[in-house]
Amino acid sequence: MNAESTIRTTSAEETRAAGASLAAQLVPGDVLLLHGDLGAGKTTLTQGLLAGLGVDAPVSSPTFVLVSDYAGHVASGEPVAIHHIDLYRLNEPSELDSTGYFDLIDETGGLLIVEWPERAASCLPERYVLVTIDFAGEDARTITIDDRSGRDRLMIETTD
Ligand code: ADP
Ligand code: MG
Repeated sequence: MNAESTIRTTSAEETRAAGASLAAQLVPGDVLLLHGDLGAGKTTLTQGLLAGLGVDAPVSSPTFVLVSDYAGHVASGEPVAIHHIDLYRLNEPSELDSTGYFDLIDETGGLLIVEWPERAASCLPERYVLVTIDFAGEDARTITIDDRSGRDRLMIETTD
């Protein structure tokens, strides 16, 4: 079974909506790796993910704090702790030790959203959902989901 699905969005709002549609399919324990260049829309997608998880706090990029924590709930209504991690400023994986990252990976039942996962290289969990965002024009992006979580296939959807 092909575990990849791709959509194209033409505005930040549409990317947020795609994030919300993805959020509706998440279960506690999921790890989302958000891959894409600076300005691609990782944080924008995260805003939609968090909105879809019932979090109404504003979401900024946690570039300086590394990890932002939120309380939300998955589609079934089950409460879930959400950790949004931005590894942009990580110079090497050994720096992860002091960030609490490994505790978050080991935590069962939380939801992890990781920007710049390539900075953690070999320290990524075994199962994850890889979301790749590519520029496709000024306000256009393609968003590809590669589901390596071992569950039934995740789908990403546009609103139209
Ligand atoms: P990243 O976290 O990947 O560095 P951000 O989400 O912080 O990127 O920034 C993405 C920027 O691109 C925002 O200013 C957003 O408004 C803009 N943008 C324009 N079109 C889109 C789109 N289709 N999807 C996501 N963001 C878009
Ligand atoms: Mg960001």
